Amino acid sequence: MDQQIDESCVFCRIVRGDFGTQFVAQNELAVAFRDIEPKAPTHVLVVPRRHVRALQEAGESDGDMLAALLLLATEVARREGLLASGYRVVINDGPDAGQSVDHLHLHVMGGKRLNLGLG
Ligand code: AMP
Repeated sequence: MDQQIDESCVFCRIVRGDFGTQFVAQNELAVAFRDIEPKAPTHVLVVPRRHVRALQEAGESDGDMLAALLLLATEVARREGLLASGYRVVINDGPDAGQSVDHLHLHVMGGKRLNLGLG
């Protein structure tokens, strides 16, 4: 059975409100908050409320959660005024991609012309 909260996970603790982090947006299954080391004028992380270690851990039964993440990413972009100018949504999964926090998260980035390099 999936674990709801991992006490050792900083994003689980942010979701729970342990640090008083302000949410940019939220829905039933996901929350959005600003990245602590922003790489763009808007850099928001969208995470599931439930602890999921990485994208590769999501399964067939996680469709609602995955949809909630993408819909919230769009809502963040709308609230941040990025819909016309454009924005990027990134998931790093595993070491070669640079995943540094083991709680699934989407980066929503925009507010400047982003470097096109993906590799
Ligand atoms: P990744 O490298 O894809 O795992 O992204 C993890 C992101 O989480 C990085 O951009 C970090 O700056 C960010 N981060 C780590 N700890 C915190 C925190 N306590 N609050 C907000 N963002 C964080």
